[in-house]
Amino acid sequence: MSSFKKEDENYIYEVISRNVKKYRKLKGWTQEKLAEEIDYSLSFIRGIESTCHQTFSIGAIWRISLVLGVDFCKLCEDDKTNKTQKFINYKCNKCGINVKMPIKIVKHFVNIYELSGNKNLPQFDCTECEGKLVPENPMDF
Ligand SMILES: [Zn+2]
Repeated sequence: MSSFKKEDENYIYEVISRNVKKYRKLKGWTQEKLAEEIDYSLSFIRGIESTCHQTFSIGAIWRISLVLGVDFCKLCEDDKTNKTQKFINYKCNKCGINVKMPIKIVKHFVNIYELSGNKNLPQFDCTECEGKLVPENPMDF
């Protein structure tokens, strides 16, 4: 759906536009609410989020990142390049719930484990019961 190539300067506007929309919705805010919180006009917010590629200033995005409570860099993150992000299937050893753990997070814990000399695969507390989330398939590692 992207109409600009990565080399095009308009590309970053599309990326930020997508992210503003995403994080606004995650916060449960309407465009009206965001406009109100930041004291910008509704049409300006609509413009930022629209696909008509309205340009906006870094300062405006800075202010939006502050009111949304999102790291400025997150608003510039191109999630299309993260599409290859993989998940590892975890399963609770008690209630059996399945959880997809982002591989990035799991690897982070693998590093911490290694630093402390722990050779086990990372386990996590189940959020639904007292059980432990364990990798469903250790071959994923
Ligand atoms: Zn459980």
